[in-house]
Amino acid sequence: MSEKRTEIGQLGEFGLIDKLALLAPSLSEKTLLGIGDDAAILKVSGDILLSTDMLVEGIHFDLSYMPLMHLGYKAVSVNVSDIAAMNGTPHHITVNIGLSNRFSVEAVETLYKGIFSACKDFKIDLVGGDTTASQTGLLISVSIIGSVQPDKVVKRSGAGKGDIICVSGDLGAAYLGLQVLEREKQVFQSNPNMQPDIEKYQYMVQRQLKPVARMDVIHELAEQDIVPTSMIDVSDGLGSELLHISKASGVGVKIYEENLPLDRMVYETAVEFKIDSTACMLNGGEDYELLFTIQQSDYEKLKNHPDIHFIGYVQDQTAGNVLITKSQHEVPITAQGWNHFNS
Ligand code: ADP
Ligand code: MG
Repeated sequence: MSEKRTEIGQLGEFGLIDKLALLAPSLSEKTLLGIGDDAAILKVSGDILLSTDMLVEGIHFDLSYMPLMHLGYKAVSVNVSDIAAMNGTPHHITVNIGLSNRFSVEAVETLYKGIFSACKDFKIDLVGGDTTASQTGLLISVSIIGSVQPDKVVKRSGAGKGDIICVSGDLGAAYLGLQVLEREKQVFQSNPNMQPDIEKYQYMVQRQLKPVARMDVIHELAEQDIVPTSMIDVSDGLGSELLHISKASGVGVKIYEENLPLDRMVYETAVEFKIDSTACMLNGGEDYELLFTIQQSDYEKLKNHPDIHFIGYVQDQTAGNVLITKSQHEVPITAQGWNHFNS
């Protein structure tokens, strides 16, 4: 490889931070002072939303198929998704990184290119962070600040009996994307001359590598003057998120298999991988779509939306959390969400 490689030691931590600060776009008028001082200064009105997420190499991502640029984008996007799920608007992020000496200055710049690309997409500023050495690979932790008007905030706990359960986009693609990447990695390891065959799986691979938080849905709901009664983003899997809403709201949920949003490519790939496509949608995870409930009176305003799907109803807690299958069987919804501790 002839690519340039500058050791981080050559530049030093401060040199590296200076370099990154120069590349950081400035997009939010809510930033009074960004990178460079002891703390950032932010001007935010409304209730402040704060969330954080940590990604660890080998646990949350595998650099053998996750390009650094995508990793940077995804780390930001999943945090934006958490702000969206509160019906809020994101404004600022901080990024903490732990780097082993495997990573060059150029690699870190590539990671930040992805971070800045997400900052542009979501109109947010990177306003600080921390940089440390690591013995065992890459750690990246993003914290995000957003805001919401107090009367517009949406929690997991507001769902009421009779509300309609909605989900944006389609489900299961990111999980299958991961299966494709894992399979190609194994093919490559057993025969490095094989060319990866991911062209026809592009949609799913892209959903895995570069999820886009659904701020568009949040803006559309606001335009329609709809405040969902409860909301959560789909990170662990639809089944697991439904149970979070059920528990927090003290209700039961009933969803219909035939109403679940299944993309044609997802269906075909699930068949090829001999995985049940409904299981992919329920348990796959990492879709970063929005799952929310609305009052029935808001249905008219949303019913023709091309990318919002009505998958069921909120019912009494005593009626449980169930899926009605295409063959009209009632099966309990279980949380088989992705769990780092037992996988
Ligand atoms: P301090 O010792 O006060 O924590 P640092 O040298 O760690 O200061 O950081 C200097 C400035 O650079 C601060 O504004 C900090 O937020 C920012 N910074 C440090 N590391 C990163 C990073 N990985 N990404 C973005 N900003 C960073
Ligand atoms: Mg510091």
